[in-house]
Amino acid sequence: MPFISSATAAKEQYDVIIVGSGAGGGQTAYTLTMDGARVLMLEAGRKYDPVSETPMFQTPDLAPLRGTGTTDKPFGFYDATIDGGWQVPGEPYVQTRTDDAGRFDWWRARMLGGRTNHWGRISLRNGPYDFKPYSRDGLGFDWPISYEDLAPYYDKVEMLVGVYGANTGLENTPDSPSGCLLPPPKPKVSDLLVAARAAKLGIPVVPGRRAVLTQQLDWKTSPAKLHPGNPAAQKIIAEDMQRRAACFWATPCGRGCSIRANYQSTTVHLPPALTTGKLDIVTDAMVYEVTLGKDGRAAGVGFVDRTTGKHQHAAARVVVLAASACESVRILLNSKSTQFPHGLANSSGKVGKYIMDTVGSSLDGQVPLLESMPPHNEDAASGHQMYVPWWLYPHAQKLGFARGYHIEFGGGKGMPGLGTAEGLEWLTGGSYGKKFKQDARRYYGSFVGFDGRGEMIPNEHSFCEIDPVVKDKWGIPVLRFHWKWSEHETRQAAHMQKTFAEIIEAMGGRVRGRAETDGAKAIAPGGSIIHEVGGAIMGADPKTSVTDRWCQTWDVKNLFLTDGAPFASNADKNPTLTIMANAWRVAEKVVERRGAIG
Ligand SMILES: Cc1cc2nc3c(=O)[nH]c(=O)nc-3n(C[C@H](O)[C@H](O)[C@H](O)COP(=O)(O)OP(=O)(O)OC[C@H]3O[C@@H](n4cnc5c(N)ncnc54)[C@H](O)[C@@H]3O)c2cc1C
Ligand code: SF4
Repeated sequence: MPFISSATAAKEQYDVIIVGSGAGGGQTAYTLTMDGARVLMLEAGRKYDPVSETPMFQTPDLAPLRGTGTTDKPFGFYDATIDGGWQVPGEPYVQTRTDDAGRFDWWRARMLGGRTNHWGRISLRNGPYDFKPYSRDGLGFDWPISYEDLAPYYDKVEMLVGVYGANTGLENTPDSPSGCLLPPPKPKVSDLLVAARAAKLGIPVVPGRRAVLTQQLDWKTSPAKLHPGNPAAQKIIAEDMQRRAACFWATPCGRGCSIRANYQSTTVHLPPALTTGKLDIVTDAMVYEVTLGKDGRAAGVGFVDRTTGKHQHAAARVVVLAASACESVRILLNSKSTQFPHGLANSSGKVGKYIMDTVGSSLDGQVPLLESMPPHNEDAASGHQMYVPWWLYPHAQKLGFARGYHIEFGGGKGMPGLGTAEGLEWLTGGSYGKKFKQDARRYYGSFVGFDGRGEMIPNEHSFCEIDPVVKDKWGIPVLRFHWKWSEHETRQAAHMQKTFAEIIEAMGGRVRGRAETDGAKAIAPGGSIIHEVGGAIMGADPKTSVTDRWCQTWDVKNLFLTDGAPFASNADKNPTLTIMANAWRVAEKVVERRGAIG
C-alpha cells in the first residue's frame, strides 16, 4: 500500500485517517502502522523524494542570484521547501495588524514531510517545570501530563530519529537515559571561545542536541526497546536504520539530506511506515473539514484534490489532525454542523485560542581573536554544536519577567555565498580592490551570531479565527490572526540583547550595531520563529480546554490532535521533539482504545 489516488482512497474504509505528514503526522503514522493499524495519510502538498530531489552538493555559483534568499524562497534557492513559505500562492491568511509588535506571520510548508524537510533539527526535551508552569508562577496553564508521562517517549523518539547531545545535569534540562543519545560533534574554534568566555560570566555552554546522526543508529539493540513484543516492527526498523548513513559534515542540512543522516519525516518516519504495507498516502489532498456521522462521531474528512479541484471524502474509524497547529485549528473551525455551529470540538469556545510562538531576538558581533584563522573545514553540523540552556532559574524572581530562554549561537567559516563579505564597512571604513580582498579574507570566519529562544506565556489576545470574508482558491475560509506580546516576553527579549552583548564583549569582540534596550523593538514578530503551537490546548477540564490528556477532543471521542495544537504552554525548548514524543504517546493510546473509540 503506497501512494494512491484520491479516488482510490475515497472508496476505502480505514482504521485511521491522519491529516498532514510532518513531524506530528509522520510520527503518528509510524507508530500506528508499526502496531498494525490501516492508515490513510492525506497531505496537502506534493509528493517529494528527498533522495533524488535534495540539492546537497550544488554550490551557490550554480544558482540564480547565487542562491540568495528571495520572497519565494526566503531561506535561499537550495532550501528544501519546494512549496510554501510566509505566503502560499492562492492560500492567503489575514493579519489584524501588520506592524512588527502586533502581527503574526504564518509559515506553511506545502510538501510531503512538511516543515521537517528543512527545519533546524534542534531537538531539546521539555523539562519537568515546563509541563507545570502555572503551578510554579500562577501564569498560563499547566499541562494535564507531567515530564514523567512523556519521558519514555522522548527516549523512543531519540533512539528512532537519532539525536546527538550530552547529559549535563543542569536544572530543568533533562538528561537522557543511556543508549538514547548519539555522541555530539566536535565544537568549532568559535564555539570553544564562546564557551570559555561565557563561563567567566557564569553562563554555561554545553553540547547542543540535534536530530543528526553522528554515527549509525544502534540497530542491534534499539528496535527491541522501541517495539517490545513486536518482532515484525523490530525487523522493519532494524533494516531501515541500517539504510541511514552517518553525517559527513559538509552540506547544509536546510536543503535536506539525501543520505538520510538527519531527521525528516520523509526519510525517517514514512519509509518504515510504508514498508509495513499498512500506509496509504494521498498527496495534493487539501483537507477542509472533519465530517460527522449521525452518532456524533467523526466519520472521515472532506478534502479537495488539488490536481483536479474535485471534492472527495475519505472514511475512517478514527481521525487524527496533524496539519500544523493553526491549520488543524482551521479545519476544526471550518467543520460546522448543527451540533457544532461554532466549529467542531469547540463547545468550550477555546478552538483557536492561546496560539503561541517562541520569543526571539538576535545580535551578532565580530571578534578580532578569530580573524585571519588558517583555512580549515568548518562546515561542521550546520550549527548547534553547542548551546546555552536557561541558567537563571534560581534568580527568576529578580528578572522582571517570568520565564526563561536558551541561546543558540554560531560562527566559523561555512561555505561562502553571496553576502559573505558584505557590510564590512563598519570594520574597514570602506575598502576597494586588493585591500577589500585582504579584508574579506581577514574577517571571514570572525563573526559570531546569537539567537535567543524564549518561552511565551499564552494570552487572551493571541488567537486565530475564521475570517468571515476571505477564502482561498479552493473556496475554503481562511484564518485571521490576532497577536500581542506581554511584558514578560518583551522584557525577556531585552535581557537577551544585554546578555549577547556581554558575551561578545567578553570575547574581546565588537557588537554589530548596538544591543537594543527596548524589548518591544528587540523582539522578533509573532510567528517569525516558526514555532507555532497552541490553538486547541489540552487540559483537565472540558470547559477550559479542547482535548483531554490524550489529545482526544472532549466533544468527539474518535478525533485526536498530534501536532503542536494541544500544547498548553510553549517552553523555551524548540517544540518538535515534544510534538513527536507526544504523537507517539497519543498514537499508542489510539491503538489501545481502538475497540472503544472506532
Ligand atoms: C526554518 C525552520 C526552522 C525550524 N527549526 C526548528 C528546530 O530547530 N527545532 C524545532 O523543534 N523546530 C523547528 N522548526 C519548527 C518545526 O519545523 C515544526 O515544529 C514541525 O515541523 C511541526 O510539525 P507539524 O507536523 O505540526 O507541522 P509540519 O511539519 O508543518 O507538517 C504539517 C503538514 O500538514 C500539511 N497540511 C497542512 N494543511 C493541510 C490540510 N488542510 N490538509 C492536508 N494536509 C495539510 C502540510 O502541507 C504539512 O506537510 C523549524 C521550522 C522552520 C520552518
Ligand atoms: S550536514 Fe550531515 S545531516 Fe546535514 S545534510 Fe549534510 S550529511 Fe546530511
